[in-house]
Amino acid sequence: MFIFFLTIDKNTGVIKFNSYSQSLISLWVGIMQTTIAGIVVLSYYIEQRANLKHKIQISQDQKIHDITQYGNTKGSQGYGNKKSDKMEVSAGQQKASIGKKITKQNSVIKFFYLILKEIAQFIRSINHDKNHTRNIMYFWISIYASSDSGMLFNALLLIDIINKIKTLGNVLSIFKENAVALMSTLALFFVLLYFSAFFSFQTFRTDFIHIEEGFEDEAPGINLYCETLVQCLVSTINFGLRAGGGLGDFLDQATWDSDQYWTRYIFDFMFFMVINIILMNIFFGIIIDSFADKRASEAEIESEVQGQCFICGISKSTFEIENVPWKDHIFQQHNMHAYLSFIIHVKQKRETECTGIEKYVKHCLDTGIIIFFPINRCLAINGGETME
Ligand SMILES: [Zn+2]
Repeated sequence: MFIFFLTIDKNTGVIKFNSYSQSLISLWVGIMQTTIAGIVVLSYYIEQRANLKHKIQISQDQKIHDITQYGNTKGSQGYGNKKSDKMEVSAGQQKASIGKKITKQNSVIKFFYLILKEIAQFIRSINHDKNHTRNIMYFWISIYASSDSGMLFNALLLIDIINKIKTLGNVLSIFKENAVALMSTLALFFVLLYFSAFFSFQTFRTDFIHIEEGFEDEAPGINLYCETLVQCLVSTINFGLRAGGGLGDFLDQATWDSDQYWTRYIFDFMFFMVINIILMNIFFGIIIDSFADKRASEAEIESEVQGQCFICGISKSTFEIENVPWKDHIFQQHNMHAYLSFIIHVKQKRETECTGIEKYVKHCLDTGIIIFFPINRCLAINGGETME
């Protein structure tokens, strides 16, 4: 919308709206957007409240379990610092006593206590749910974007497209998954650029040319500065990486009879080879490679989902060979929803009321054994014997 509405005041150079009505429209849209964002935050929170509470609870339990079992230290060394079990008990008792104290107070305090508790949970959920965090951020940015100084943030809100399109999220996850490799390459980049900058600072800092006052006519196309090491480094990073042929493209060219001809010759060539060709391509290679990996692993998952029975894992082609209709198998013989409903049914039933089979499955579920699934077996094929 701002694409058509905004213009620049010719007298003052300030960004403004074309007309008063347009500024009113954008104000209203801003208010509406903020309100909707607020409603989204609240409704998502209300809808997912129990879920978020559960997530927080799980992470707390995990933390307490980790600390009491393995101590604060991460890794296998942590076991040596195992703390006593007392901690868990005392924390639990503390919690219980606080709860008791509050319930004894009058209902007003109880009301505020509940509200505070709710707010605390609302804030804590930020850590545990990406969508919740996103909604809140969207809300705050909308508020700021509605103000005059925050107009630019309206464009930032469009970044939400990452959230809407799944493929874009995948692209981002590649950077996240390869963060260590990419950052290490960047660190190596920096070290080598620093070395080059130091070397040029020491040897040929006068080759970094820029506009001299009074000589504007002879100004070079690009200004390079190398009067301090920092300037040298900044110029090297910016122009060394951007120039197609390395830093040498932008430096003052040495003449054949100059003392530094060969130094520059080797420096320019090595800079181009090491930084612009080898390191740059390592960097691109990591990204492109991981794209290919990601695609391959996605295709593998896709082929497993499409071409294998979810329950027994026997492939679609085996059923074709044995002349068992594939759809009969996945919708009737091994219907995964039937399995799921059976599991829920068994979990909710008391053990004393279970039949023999149910008792067996319940026991398996409690101990985390999945042997009751017909893995690699199917009654319609091979008489139910395990496949080779
Ligand atoms: Zn099956």
